[in-house]
Amino acid sequence: MAKIAATTLAAASLLLPMATFAQETDETAAEKTRGGSLAVEKIRAAVDANAARAIELFREFLALPNDALYPDDIATLVDWMEHAFVSRGFTVERIETPDNASLYAGRHVDDALPTVLVYLQADGQPVDPSAWNQADPYVAVLKEKDDQGRWNEIPWERLGQNLSPDWRIFARSASDSKGPMTQFMMAIELLDKAGFEASYNLKVLIDTEEELGSPNLAEAIRANSDLFAADMLLIFDGPPHASGNPTVSFGARGIATITLTTYGPKVAQHSGHYGNFVPNPALQLSQLLASMKSPDGRVLIEGFYDGIELDDETVAVLESVPDDETAILESMALAEADAVGRSLQEAIQYPSLNIRGLSAAWTGAESRTIIPPTAVAELDVRLVKESDPERIIGLIRDHTEAQGFHVLDREPTRAERLTKPRIVSFVYDVSYGAFRSDFDAPPGLMARAGMRHLYGEEPILIRSMGGSIPIAPIIDALDVPAATVPTVNIDNNQHSPNENLRLGNFLEGIAILMSVLSQAPPVE
Ligand SMILES: [Zn+2]
Repeated sequence: MAKIAATTLAAASLLLPMATFAQETDETAAEKTRGGSLAVEKIRAAVDANAARAIELFREFLALPNDALYPDDIATLVDWMEHAFVSRGFTVERIETPDNASLYAGRHVDDALPTVLVYLQADGQPVDPSAWNQADPYVAVLKEKDDQGRWNEIPWERLGQNLSPDWRIFARSASDSKGPMTQFMMAIELLDKAGFEASYNLKVLIDTEEELGSPNLAEAIRANSDLFAADMLLIFDGPPHASGNPTVSFGARGIATITLTTYGPKVAQHSGHYGNFVPNPALQLSQLLASMKSPDGRVLIEGFYDGIELDDETVAVLESVPDDETAILESMALAEADAVGRSLQEAIQYPSLNIRGLSAAWTGAESRTIIPPTAVAELDVRLVKESDPERIIGLIRDHTEAQGFHVLDREPTRAERLTKPRIVSFVYDVSYGAFRSDFDAPPGLMARAGMRHLYGEEPILIRSMGGSIPIAPIIDALDVPAATVPTVNIDNNQHSPNENLRLGNFLEGIAILMSVLSQAPPVE
């Protein structure tokens, strides 16, 4: 494993703090080099010279409403993207689905060359304009932070004077994910201008329903398998590691949820009249939950962690991620971490079993001396590649049965309540599984080479993100290895009001994508 070093994105962005908008010249046009990466100075010069144009394109794109619950808005958005990609030399094709059309865009070079597929997201979360500190979440504003930490709007004209990388553009989807798509469009445009010729065929898949969980896309991909056939997948989305250092990530955990309900008396009973006589469902549920995990947070259910093997090389990569675990625990006022892994990164290589909600009767000022009729626990299970969702759910269900519970997938009948002393209703939902590709699979090698080219050092390698993104079924349908190159600032208010993208990250992301896309894909 190559040494993992830390170059900060912040430090890298220092190259840009006082960049002014230079006029474009033909000097950026380089000699044509198919497959050779573009020199870093040329990448930097091209981004500097085209910052104004990139921001203009970004503002135009941000102005298009993109909530997938409004099909007319998505139709307008798809029209705009069609033109944007056609004008950059792509052939485009609408992928019709029962709801909103997704978009395919492609640049074919040669049948003999490998094919790189890029995934981009066009739709965004809904907006509640009243919660935003600007008139319209779809009309981007430029803001600067004052001494009190408040963001104040500043005129766009100031970009033409001294552009600060710490200024931010506020609008819905600035970071999630029109920022990355604009970076991609600009990267392609600037690589073309520089005379770069790709040594691969390029395909782009634009999702218009990501925030709805991409309900139609996997099927659309299977129905258009030739169109989307590729050797590798690059995903441009999300923020890098919390340190802000250049990052490539290789997977994410999947997620399933379970609702457990235990049953006591048909209606709440007086704890004085019946305490010691009427069984309490909150106690039953507590005992069940306690049987599932050790005091230090490890799941005790047999087979739960089966199949997960972390070799020395993998552990070394996990350990090289610069998480400040002491600071994380301190910020949360916690004495110690759970003992599932030796580090945060190691811990998220395993499936987790979490109590996300727990209720029985009342608490606090509302509490009363009763034996409650039911107790409810909401669980979430984060899945890894080794944990088949149905197998894991089956293990939890079997474990529940082994604790002496009669397990149902519904409310018990009166007859069942009269004959079974311990009943639990066990209702689950598998949202989607995990995905993960190898560090050395082609997309990982190409992304890492692009990062090394730009920064001179290996990026942080995130084997799997702890959270879940609904791209696993899409990757399954595409059946290709994937790597994610993140570019946006982590504090971007994604999904919330006042979503933003830091200018330094916006411009640096164009350079990152230019560097990655100018690498030769390591495919035979
Ligand atoms: Zn999102």
